[in-house]
Amino acid sequence: MYEACPDCGQHYEPEVGFYWGAMYVSYGFSVGIVVLVGVLLYYLAHDPPVWVYVSTVAAAVLLLTPLLFRYARAVMLYFFGGVHYKPPR
Ligand SMILES: [Zn+2]
Repeated sequence: MYEACPDCGQHYEPEVGFYWGAMYVSYGFSVGIVVLVGVLLYYLAHDPPVWVYVSTVAAAVLLLTPLLFRYARAVMLYFFGGVHYKPPR
């Protein structure tokens, strides 16, 4: 991750340890994925055995971890870091 935006110079870490809070955002995303995949399996696979739920949910969360990591940090930065998007004119 860059220390600052190469385009506008926005500093990406407002304070030391700022992204610890992103763990909670990531946790929220993970819970959403678990619920979504579980509901989809229930309806699309007609309530499969428990091991199918566990393995599918674990695989989905593991595969999406790189995205979750980045989006959790972005959400943390936007909501608590004082960063606001300014579209180019
Ligand atoms: Zn920028």
